[in-house]
Amino acid sequence: MDRAIVIGGGLAGLAATAALAGEGLPVDLFEARGFLGGRASSYPAGGDGGAQVIDNCQHVLLRCCVNLLDFYRRLGAERHIRFHREFYFLEPGGRVSPLRAGPLPAPLHFSGSFPGLRFLGWRDKLSITRALLALKAERGRADLDRVTMLDWLREKRQTPRAIARFWSPVLVSAINEELGRMAASHGFQVFWLGFLASTRGYEMGLPDVPLGELYGLERWRRFPAARLHLRAPVERVIVEDGAARGVVAGGVRHDARAVICALPFERAGALVPELGLELGAFEHSPITGIHLWFDRPVTRLPHGALLDRTIQWFFDKQGGRYLQVVVSASRSLVNLPREEVITLARRELAEFLPEVKDARIERAHVVKEVRATFSARPGLEALRPPARTAVRGLLLAGDWTRSGWPATMEGAVRSGYLAAEAAAEALGAPRRFLLPDIA
Ligand SMILES: Cc1cc2nc3c(=O)[nH]c(=O)nc-3n(C[C@H](O)[C@H](O)[C@H](O)COP(=O)(O)OP(=O)(O)OC[C@H]3O[C@@H](n4cnc5c(N)ncnc54)[C@H](O)[C@@H]3O)c2cc1C
Repeated sequence: MDRAIVIGGGLAGLAATAALAGEGLPVDLFEARGFLGGRASSYPAGGDGGAQVIDNCQHVLLRCCVNLLDFYRRLGAERHIRFHREFYFLEPGGRVSPLRAGPLPAPLHFSGSFPGLRFLGWRDKLSITRALLALKAERGRADLDRVTMLDWLREKRQTPRAIARFWSPVLVSAINEELGRMAASHGFQVFWLGFLASTRGYEMGLPDVPLGELYGLERWRRFPAARLHLRAPVERVIVEDGAARGVVAGGVRHDARAVICALPFERAGALVPELGLELGAFEHSPITGIHLWFDRPVTRLPHGALLDRTIQWFFDKQGGRYLQVVVSASRSLVNLPREEVITLARRELAEFLPEVKDARIERAHVVKEVRATFSARPGLEALRPPARTAVRGLLLAGDWTRSGWPATMEGAVRSGYLAAEAAAEALGAPRRFLLPDIA
């Protein structure tokens, strides 16, 4: 009976499980699918060249994602995260501008490479500098969750080019929403923690193995207190006398003193109707990943932000021959047939990487994640529920809950740690798991 149950083996549920089991607290994790990782997972993709394990989409973290990195450390997976200190911005035509931190302390660490960004004019750079200073000064502003990031940028008289070529490439991919739909509070957080608060917070972490290997089954051997149940969808949460008593999975009752529901919002609402979650304001924002295997190397860059086009980022996954192209907030692609998505990606990519023109695509794979994240609209923050609920011992986790971060891997892990803290308390063994932001 003195166990915790975690429902959902995405990053939120996994983080909660690792935190509790790491303290020797018994925990059962139930995951509906046959593998772990949820929306950040990998699987074998077939094709003429044989099956290759690929990620559903490139997942990027920044060094300021301290809880996510802590979670990887618990699993022994942190050595698989490679940090990149340069961002490359590519213009159509192929011109490349790198952005990297120099020796000066934050927030002056970009003062060496920022003036050299060739895709911005001096007016754009001045306006950006002004806005960054304002961002630092206005962090406590009360209305940041009520206005959009675009409203705020316009208030700060950002040039259209600064918005399109600087703010948008960074924020649309970080928050998975357009600037005109995203609450300014999220944009503030990304720029503050990633680019202003410390010299290294911006460094981009990319796994050197498929995502599934970061939290694959063998990593859980170090947690004897954790029992993982795969292909085990939870059918019901048992609530008796105002308290969570366990779950039903596969028709079998499993008792527990704390139940962490770490499901996406659309599933959580249905599984625990007794919470009466108000989810009407939650909407999804899609992400499209386009995987392209060329017959030759088409770039020497490890990654790049692609300016002024539909496609937004590319990541080299294998010697310049296998690229993952990412489009966040990709509403314009959701209804486009697969072949047209591939044609568009290839045509646009060739504008940035000239080698693509002569290369042949040997294989392509398109992943449209229509329910990638919730749309971080103004006004939503107050509606994100905290970990603790009105039902004793029933806790919520997931990237959509009130984690203090937007819908990201860091947000999911933070929510898992917060729920695990409350679960540990319910088990009579209070613990702290959440690490503070580096700022
Ligand atoms: C294409 C794409 C690209 C992304 N890129 C990035 C990125 O670059 N950087 C970043 O930080 N974030 C990125 N994200 C966001 C990130 O993946 C998510 O925020 C995070 O993985 C959400 O984790 P979660 O645990 O909250 O939810 P989920 O991952 O959705 O986990 C929920 C789990 O619950 C399981 N489940 C559902 N119903 C049941 C049931 N009844 N019983 C048991 N289990 C059940 C599901 O199978 C799933 O495994 C991206 C997301 C997508 C889709």
